[in-house]
Amino acid sequence: MDLALTPAQVTLRDRARAFVVDVLQPLEIELERGGGRLPSETASDVRRAAIEAGLAGGELPREVGGRGWSVLEQVLVHEQYGQVTGGLWSFIPGAYDVLRHADAEQRRRYLEPSLRGERFGAYAVTEPGAGSDARTLATTAVRDASSGDWLINGEKWFVTGSANTDFMIVQATVVEGEERRPTLFLVDYDTPGVRMTADPDYMHTYADRHPQFVLEDVRVPDSARLGDVGAADDLTNEWFVTERIHIGARCFGAMERLIALAVEWATGRVQFGERIFDFQGVSFPLANSAADASAARLLTREAAWLADSGADRKVVHAKASLAKLFASEAAFICADRVLQVFGGRGYMRDNPAERYLRELRVDRIWEGTSEIQRLIIARSLERRGVGRVVG
Ligand SMILES: Cc1cc2nc3c(=O)[nH]c(=O)nc-3n(C[C@H](O)[C@H](O)[C@H](O)COP(=O)(O)OP(=O)(O)OC[C@H]3O[C@@H](n4cnc5c(N)ncnc54)[C@H](O)[C@@H]3O)c2cc1C
Repeated sequence: MDLALTPAQVTLRDRARAFVVDVLQPLEIELERGGGRLPSETASDVRRAAIEAGLAGGELPREVGGRGWSVLEQVLVHEQYGQVTGGLWSFIPGAYDVLRHADAEQRRRYLEPSLRGERFGAYAVTEPGAGSDARTLATTAVRDASSGDWLINGEKWFVTGSANTDFMIVQATVVEGEERRPTLFLVDYDTPGVRMTADPDYMHTYADRHPQFVLEDVRVPDSARLGDVGAADDLTNEWFVTERIHIGARCFGAMERLIALAVEWATGRVQFGERIFDFQGVSFPLANSAADASAARLLTREAAWLADSGADRKVVHAKASLAKLFASEAAFICADRVLQVFGGRGYMRDNPAERYLRELRVDRIWEGTSEIQRLIIARSLERRGVGRVVG
């Protein structure tokens, strides 16, 4: 792996850093105090600024209107997004990269307006009865023989998106006789039969919400099918792998900021006539987190580099799980240590360490829990060989 960044990659990283520091970080307290909400004019200003900064749609290929960043370039940017609390980076216009498989009409209706910050999508896989084990998803899509339309029935939970979200990519099982094939559909929220049943609050105060939906006889045309019948597992797994790498990168970014804040504070704070940084009880936990952060950064960049170099997809899958598992667990511990270094001030909501401690917890749950990452890694050790997973 070549660890040196090209001048273009450095420029991209610095552009993302400037956007995070100048535009997003100043909004953190307002978002926290507003329960995850910003005034709509502020949100529009952020979206416009993100488009002007060349950050919208970075993950999508140029052919479909994105910026065509390599996975390593995506990581460099997400390392910066991790430096802001409240998930504020989610205001940057974009779309789930599964939409690269959209046909021309779907691009016009969903992808292009998403990249302009005019439409907002969610990805609905999880159900009340099926989380880690997606093989047991109960949402069905049945073809109406007379019209060719699909009738979708089911319930989806944790459907993440901004308050303006207006469509979801639904994973449903197409039932044709004995055959059951997982398939994706694009469903507008205003389609008859789509009903939001709950919009719960969570541990974090995020810009995104995670509501629950019931879909009852939701009729969509065949043109709403995203990809082939039976393609959903492959398409969703493709998204999981990239998203796990992004999570690893954001967790590294969070750790970098947390450690910087802690060092700044601890080298200035005096107790018992000495800087608290000079007590090893304070500085050694930070040294441990510095080691963790460096390892998380390397693991994540390695997974990205392998993905970009066309390595065996199964090995990339295992490496993405390694990166997410390590980075998310280390980042949570780092937030806890940094909160402790701040003492009582660390427990205040205006302190980033307090917010990070609540926010980083979910990185051990979504896009596959830590236990599921361990399952993937353990299986790969046996099937791909230890040398290819850890080497
Ligand atoms: C804030 C938030 C946002 C989310 N956003 C989305 C979204 O946008 N779209 C979406 O589809 N989903 C989303 N999810 C759902 C998320 O992906 C699931 O919560 C996650 O996959 C776990 O599923 P579950 O909650 O049903 O837990 P379960 O699968 O019921 O697991 C419960 C516990 O059992 C453990 N466990 C399960 N199986 C095994 C096993 N084989 N070995 C060892 N341990 C096991 C798990 O690790 C976990 O600790 C979101 C969740 C949250 C909290």
